[in-house]
Amino acid sequence: SFPANLVPQAPEDPLFGLAREYRADESPYKVDLGIGAYRDENAKPWVLPVVHKADEILRNNPELNHEYGPIAGIASFTTKAADLILGSDSPALKESRATSLQTISGTGAVHLGALFLAKFYQGGRTVYVSNPTWGNHHQIFKNVGLTVDTYPYFHKETKGLDFEGMKEAFQNAPDHSIFVLHACAHNPTGVDPTQDQWTEIAAIMREKNHFPFFDCAYQGFASGNLARDAWAVHYFIEQGFELVVAQSFAKNFGLYGERAGCFHAVTSPAEDAPQTIARIGSQLAILQRSEISNPPLYGARIVSTVLNDPELFSEWEENLRTMSGRIITMRSALRSKLEELETPGTWNHITDQIGMFSFTGLSEAQVMKIREEAHVYMTKNGRISMAGLNDSNVEYFAKAVDKVVR
Ligand code: PLP
Repeated sequence: SFPANLVPQAPEDPLFGLAREYRADESPYKVDLGIGAYRDENAKPWVLPVVHKADEILRNNPELNHEYGPIAGIASFTTKAADLILGSDSPALKESRATSLQTISGTGAVHLGALFLAKFYQGGRTVYVSNPTWGNHHQIFKNVGLTVDTYPYFHKETKGLDFEGMKEAFQNAPDHSIFVLHACAHNPTGVDPTQDQWTEIAAIMREKNHFPFFDCAYQGFASGNLARDAWAVHYFIEQGFELVVAQSFAKNFGLYGERAGCFHAVTSPAEDAPQTIARIGSQLAILQRSEISNPPLYGARIVSTVLNDPELFSEWEENLRTMSGRIITMRSALRSKLEELETPGTWNHITDQIGMFSFTGLSEAQVMKIREEAHVYMTKNGRISMAGLNDSNVEYFAKAVDKVVR
């Protein structure tokens, strides 16, 4: 049997719990700023027009069936996914020292990477994640038997990067430690290192022989430019790092529930690098087989259709600019409303931060007060999803913030 002292009741996932509370709220003024998914200017989910087109193409293909896919996923998908995140002219691809497996979206890619490192990594058993980070990082790495520790990231006063604290932690960690790095649009803070700061981080990691584990859930969604959002990954590869990347197509394709993602492993330049990566790929395939057997087809087929067609690809880039552009506009709108209201504090961080989320700096007590009084739902750490804001609610939200901070 499973007594309560051995199988205690687990807490509800905070984000899914927040969504449930939002749905139950009957106020006509309610605003959902918890959701980590894009919303259009009418606060509605958005199916990317290019995804509609790819869907149509797939449905009209009489050859398509529902047979099992390969263990490593659809090759036309994983090849293009690698081009996108590693760079199509990446030395890692030219020198055949990268391997890619399709996964259950970004979460599955992080999990597969964690599992592989837990089994084969010869360095430290501690994985360092930013403080704060996407909550799931903690449980994914712990679940495979690794220890999780944190490095400083968010500076409470500036609401920007605690770069000095971060560097010190990288210096002080034992050599060969694993560091999880958000490639762009850091979740939950929206704070990213600059390219100069990435260069410094890479130099320390190289000196300390640390292992970079990139998590990339927002490529193209952050700045609207695919290459710019993958800059850090490209740079680390150019520097010859051995590294892994978890890549999600949930946000940048709006394919949240379809679970399209990819895991990439890259080895350092060496004469036997192609053999090394082949061995790594063979072990990843065994892990994949025992975990999910083979990945789901539909989302990857959509992504593959778009990435393999130059015209659809340009249309996708246009759709990315629509999403990132609307979010950037909402950042400016929120900041100017708060500044117009002369809300106490500084609000430049709203426009300095990037991607889906903003760390407002509101305290848990203020978050709860806004929830009760204004029916605005955000996570207790003061994170808001910028995508939940639109022309109809941004002023209402700014006034609610103004009221609680006074
Ligand atoms: N990693 C980070 C940092 C994220 O923010 C997310 C989604 O919110 C993910 C990974 C994985 O998302 P998914 O499994 O939906 O691709």
